[in-house]
Amino acid sequence: MGSDLLADARALDATLLHWRRHLHAHPELSGHEANTASYVAAALREMGLEPRARVGGMYGLTVDLGPAGGPCVALRADMDALPIQEQTGLPYASRTPGVMHACGHDAHTAMLLGAARLLSARRGELARPVRLIFQPAEEQPPGGAKPMIDAGVLDGVERVYGLHIWSEMPVGTLGTRAGVFMASTDELDIVIRGRGGHAAMPQQCVDPIVAASQVVVALQSITSRSIAMTDSAVVSITQFNGGTASNIIPEEVRLAGTVRTLSEATRAAVLRRLREIVEGVARAHGAEARVEVGAGYPALVNDAAAVESALRAARGLGIASESILQLAAQGGGEDFAYYARRVPSAFVFLGARNEAKGCVFAHHHPRFNIDEDALPLGAALLAALALSAA
Ligand SMILES: [Zn+2]
Ligand SMILES: [Zn+2]
Repeated sequence: MGSDLLADARALDATLLHWRRHLHAHPELSGHEANTASYVAAALREMGLEPRARVGGMYGLTVDLGPAGGPCVALRADMDALPIQEQTGLPYASRTPGVMHACGHDAHTAMLLGAARLLSARRGELARPVRLIFQPAEEQPPGGAKPMIDAGVLDGVERVYGLHIWSEMPVGTLGTRAGVFMASTDELDIVIRGRGGHAAMPQQCVDPIVAASQVVVALQSITSRSIAMTDSAVVSITQFNGGTASNIIPEEVRLAGTVRTLSEATRAAVLRRLREIVEGVARAHGAEARVEVGAGYPALVNDAAAVESALRAARGLGIASESILQLAAQGGGEDFAYYARRVPSAFVFLGARNEAKGCVFAHHHPRFNIDEDALPLGAALLAALALSAA
């Protein structure tokens, strides 16, 4: 069955390219995927399927296939693009200035449409119901997964699978790991408020630049002094803004950054230390601090049995065992984590790197592109997961 599936997916190649390139040329930002959702719905209707639109209040879409009742398997793709000006020069480059599919979500959507096509031709072979989830707003926390889950997309679902195109891995490979696979993400917004004045009379001021500088340095002690050697975390301060002139001590400095951890316990510990350090160091300088932690995503934890099913399906497609990679936990975040928290799930990376084709740029880079040979493999793998019995 597996090799037939891959052959059928390869026969769909021109259609997969057509979908992916259309989506690539017409990217939409998180929460604004109106045209993308209409395009997906039209493609599904053309297959004789009946998608449900606006699931979860945004542009989420689901469609059910196979027998009614019984435990269901769900396949999820995300649909949103990023606020980046594309610089690939591709003939199907973004036609929307400042917006680009620079993470591969166009490919995810095309591959799930491909799986829908493969599965609708095999409806009689489906042993259990299958739900396809086309999700908006992955790139922007609080994300599109949670509202779809709140709207009931996981009701009756016992497994969820998702793929992410991965530019760090050669095309033809796939990789994942059981257990924690992707990090929790928390966005930081910190204000250090002092007392401004003339730069020649610092004794009359509380200098927030000096205080904030000490804060940035002290925060690096969290990962080196508060985290066990067997655990890991990242604290990155990425913006440091304050001041207007060389002879003025400003009133305040604003810092932004991100925290990544691999467990809820570490996440809580890091955020607690972060508040203590920011507030304590600011106070030691006579300044005040405000720390706000924006809604991020929890760590994505893959279920071991779901991962095993995914690897079995991959082997069934004829993927050689040396092309199936055991990956380390990743620092990036994903709102697929919310599905995985509710239902045993597996999230799998699909290689799309190809030096010869120039597909070497990182995700979120203005020249990001994928080797489209990954598309049939991804579509076949998703379909295989729906068709497999466990
Ligand atoms: Zn991304
Ligand atoms: Zn992504």
